[in-house]
This record gives sequence, C-alpha cells and structure tokens, in this order.
Amino acid sequence: MREVITEGIRGIVFKKLITEVELEAPPDFKIKKSIIEYRQDPFTDLWVRISVERAMRPRQVPLTPPEVESWKRKDYDEKCPFCTVERSTPKYPPHILEEGRLIEKSQYLFPNLYPFAKYHAVVTLTPKHFKEYQELTTEEWYHALHLSIEYFRKISTRDREVRYFTINLNYLAPAGASILHPHLQLVADVKLGNYTALLLQKYREYRSKWGTDLIQDLVESEEKLGERFLWRGKLVTWIVAYAPWIPGEIIGTAQVSDIRELSDSEVRYLAEDIKNLLNPYRQAVKTDSINVSMYSLPGTDLPLLIRIGARKPLQPYYTNDRGFMEVLHQEPITDILPENLTKTLRELRKQ
Ligand SMILES: [Zn+2]
Repeated sequence: MREVITEGIRGIVFKKLITEVELEAPPDFKIKKSIIEYRQDPFTDLWVRISVERAMRPRQVPLTPPEVESWKRKDYDEKCPFCTVERSTPKYPPHILEEGRLIEKSQYLFPNLYPFAKYHAVVTLTPKHFKEYQELTTEEWYHALHLSIEYFRKISTRDREVRYFTINLNYLAPAGASILHPHLQLVADVKLGNYTALLLQKYREYRSKWGTDLIQDLVESEEKLGERFLWRGKLVTWIVAYAPWIPGEIIGTAQVSDIRELSDSEVRYLAEDIKNLLNPYRQAVKTDSINVSMYSLPGTDLPLLIRIGARKPLQPYYTNDRGFMEVLHQEPITDILPENLTKTLRELRKQ
C-alpha cells in the first residue's frame, strides 16, 4: 500500500493509504482496476475507506414508484401526530417545563414519546406534512433552532446536571425517521456519546500538545490546502470531511461553544448558513434523505460542530448503506470522493 501524508498547520496531518485491486471484469474479462483509499479521520484517528472508483462512476437515478411521490406531496395528514400536535403529542409536566410544550410561529416543541435520553424533545420543522429538506425556508430553520435553544436554556436552568446539547435530524425513513413529517430531535444529556467522548479526548490531547484548537487548526489547514474547503457563512464555516463516516459528510464549525449563548441574530445566521448549504447539497448528493447533528459541549471549549451526511433516497426497496463493515467492523465505506463533492458544491453555489 502506498502511504500519502499531507501536512496541515501545526499538528494537523491528513493520512491515507492507497491500494489498487485488479480483476477481470465481464463481459470481455479485461483487467479492471479499482482504487481503494483508507483515510484516517483527523478528529478521532479512526479509519474509514473510500472506494474511489465507485465514486467516479456515473450515478443512475433510482426509479421512484408513484406512491412515494404521493406520500411526499401531502401538506396535511390527519393521522400524523406532528400535523395534529395539540391532540396527538405529549407534554412535559410543569416541574420539567412549565409551558408543557413550546410554540413559536407554527412550530412546536414537545417531549419525544419514546425517549432515549433524560431530555429528548422533538421540534417540528414545518407545519406542512411534507417538504424536501432543501425546501425548508430560512424562517422555518430559524424558528426550529430558536425553539431548540430556548428548550436547552430552560431545562438546564432547572437541572444543572445537564451539560451536553445536540440538535439532530433524521430526514426521511432511510435516515432513521419513523415519522415522515420533518422534525428535529433534541438531546440534552449528562453523559457524552461515544463519538463526542472520543472527539473530546483527541481535542484535549491536541490542545495540551500544540496549545491550539484542533477544530480551528483543521479548518485553517483545509482553507490553506483548498481541496475540501467550501466557504465561510455568516456564522458557520463549512468543509467537506477528509475521512467521511457517512457518504458526502460535511463538517461545519462556528466560533461558539455553548449554543445557549447564541443571540437571536446569530441563530438567524445559523439558519441562513444551513439553508444555503442544503440547496446545493440536495443537487450534489441527489438524495432526499440526510442525517444532521449539531454538537454543543459547554465548558469544554470545543467549538459548535455540525455534521451532515447523505443517506439512500426514499423508496420502498433499496440496498441499505450500512453493511457489515459499518455495523460490525466500525469502519465506514463511502463512495463519494470528498474532493469531487467539494468541487460540485462550490460550482452549484455559484449558480
Ligand atoms: Zn404531518
């Protein structure tokens, strides 16, 4: 295997191993070569793989049966709990959240009926039963994020143990959503998740060795190298992940650690930055299903981090994107070359 090391600034190193696989491919059984890249994630030191040859191949647009289109075009569904929030969704008891639910414009925040954390809430992103993610307006993002932050402020004032905040999105069933109606999921926790624990450990090790910020140094390195740097928004700087954990992984960072400290105008900038990324992103990755997580770990200095990735498009039958390598080996394989995605997104943004 060939090792390629690219130096960023200070302690940032982009490391990859490249190998070539040969086989005799039908119909003529001529030699076909595939290149596989093993890349080390600068945040966690974990390895991922990219099958470059697959990424270079033109993508076929999947045939979507008509019933999928009809689910998607509904503005209101009588049976959907998020279309009928007042009668169908739970409320917090007053000792947790006085208001029971939080409401802003036509968006609601309420507890998740099936929580997996002490504080696990849902925010509707839009009153409409269905929209594609790039159709969500800046206003809708703003109110949903504003409600989320309001919730984090309120519950952490009452419960001082709660320290870690994440805003998450499973957009459509292939991304893990059980309800089609677009919604954010908020988790306020006393314990770090596996990813954030590992990231924080590396972040602290980096700081004690180099005296600087791992995430800022990565962003500066990417800006200097240019291959995966997207753009600086009003609040968020976007890059394409060097070692993607999920196809088309985008990383965003902002110069704030505690999301509860964002002013209203900064929340608006955050909403605009997300909206302005998702428009070209939808065209570039050609899928209507995505995951998003925003991590805010107050008291750790870690800047606000956003990760976005593409999942399979919504359709009744498809091959899942998580196989044994992802599920049992903890080594994700993706087929979108980060440097190609960067070029595409930059081009689309100009249009
Ligand atoms: Zn609905």
